[in-house]
Amino acid sequence: MKTSATKPAASRPSRASRSRGPSARELIFGDLWEFDPAPETADPHIRSSYGLFINDKFSPARKGGIFPSISPGNEKKLTDLALADAADVDAAYSAASKAYEKVWSKLPGNERGKFIYRIARLLQDRAREFAVAESLDGGKPIKESRDFDVPTAAAHFFYHAGWADKLDHLAPGRQVAPYGIVGQVIPWNFPLLMLAWKIAPALAAGNCIVIKPAETTSITALKLCEVFQEAGLPPGVVNVVTGAGETGAAVMSHPLASKVAFTGSTEVGKAIMRSLAGTGKKMTMELGGKAANIVFEDAPLGQAVEGIINGIFFNQGHVCCAGSRLLVQESIADDMLTRLKLRMQSLRVGDPLDKNTDIGAINSKEQLTRISELVKSGVAEGAELYQTPCRLPSKGFYFPPSIFSKVTQSHRIAREEIFGPVLSILTFRTPEEAIEKANNTAYGLSAGVWTDKGSRILKMASQLKAGVVWANTYNKFDPSSPFGGYKESGFGREGGRQGLLDYCKLL
Ligand code: NAD
Repeated sequence: MKTSATKPAASRPSRASRSRGPSARELIFGDLWEFDPAPETADPHIRSSYGLFINDKFSPARKGGIFPSISPGNEKKLTDLALADAADVDAAYSAASKAYEKVWSKLPGNERGKFIYRIARLLQDRAREFAVAESLDGGKPIKESRDFDVPTAAAHFFYHAGWADKLDHLAPGRQVAPYGIVGQVIPWNFPLLMLAWKIAPALAAGNCIVIKPAETTSITALKLCEVFQEAGLPPGVVNVVTGAGETGAAVMSHPLASKVAFTGSTEVGKAIMRSLAGTGKKMTMELGGKAANIVFEDAPLGQAVEGIINGIFFNQGHVCCAGSRLLVQESIADDMLTRLKLRMQSLRVGDPLDKNTDIGAINSKEQLTRISELVKSGVAEGAELYQTPCRLPSKGFYFPPSIFSKVTQSHRIAREEIFGPVLSILTFRTPEEAIEKANNTAYGLSAGVWTDKGSRILKMASQLKAGVVWANTYNKFDPSSPFGGYKESGFGREGGRQGLLDYCKLL
């Protein structure tokens, strides 16, 4: 492999275009200094096994199938999960159907809202326990699950609880009604948050649910079922079935599902769309991405460096809207590369439960293999790889923060979603070239623009083919703000009025 791993620099490089005084010494916290471990010690209360959550009860799969859930941080088994087959999925839909007919469809919006509020409050009460479970199960650093995933999931329930009795104002001049039963399948990168994005609007709109979490990260979904029980949610309103692709296909294709919502890869999303064509089911698809994060020479560069680092290394880069293609204006490209390398050296990779960890574990062995394979292809195609010199834990699935310079648009690392801590850097000279390159992708989920000029932000935002464009920031989420894609990143929105409308029929 052609790699370069420079020693941590002792001083910050000066910006090419502006001269500053003598360079200041830097403190590099990366691996140079030993840190005392600072593990999060709260008990995640994970049971030794979980059944399927159908009709308010945990019960084994009918054929008794189970599969293990392991922690990617240390490869230890966390629990056994029930493997649902088509008959189990059918039982879940029967429960949802009964709950819809007998209870949920008869409740006024304000009563539904009370249940959703209770779920939000109970989730807040158990936030620490949920954060630990999420980091153990998925590999993300505890500071992210604690400060982002769990609070944002609770915020989604709060936001949608507020909507439940205001649906008359959702589509002015039109009446809305729930679909009835919705089937949902979600990925492993934000297990609890994706669950909240799916469940909260569906319940607020008056639907009952059958949902399948990803096979590597089902634990917080099952823990949330305990919250549903505590909240007194009527039996059958939310049913959670666990398993892999076959179980997901059964959830998507069940005849009782009038609407299906899928979040996952573009490849699987396309397969689902093909299999459901002609069934009349309403669909929303939240799929992959390959976002351009565009930095102009007049941008506040220090701030941009933080946005780029956050854009690609947040959640180990397992983020559909990750800023995985950095487009830098040519005049500042060398300076930006030096700044990024320096900043990367202060990122700590390691135990997801350690409060000092910036980058945790890759979610699974399969994902680690995929990332490694794509990185090898980048080197083979002639891009220049830089990886932070850091010690990776001997057990578990880890990958060092990586950036590629000298990337061209034809490289696989510029075209394919890597879904890992790997940044591909390309350059541009003019705004037109930046737009052309940013839009030259099959995806269209998100983008970032860094510049001092407000007019340029507006021009770029109107020409970038992306569902979300962040300006002088990155990865900002709010329940009231719709999120979703263009092109092969999918269709439909999650969050905000638009996301809620996707769970309602217009009458
Ligand atoms: P994936 O498509 O492999 O799996 C997603 C889910 O689909 C899992 O629960 C899986 O068990 C299930 N599944 C697999 N085959 C299925 C089938 N044939 N029918 C029905 N369900 C099936 O994706 P992943 O690897 O879990 O997640 C990563 C992908 O998700 C990335 O491409 C990422 O960009 C995307 N993603 C998109 C968004 C968004 O909002 N656009 C958000 C998060 C993740």
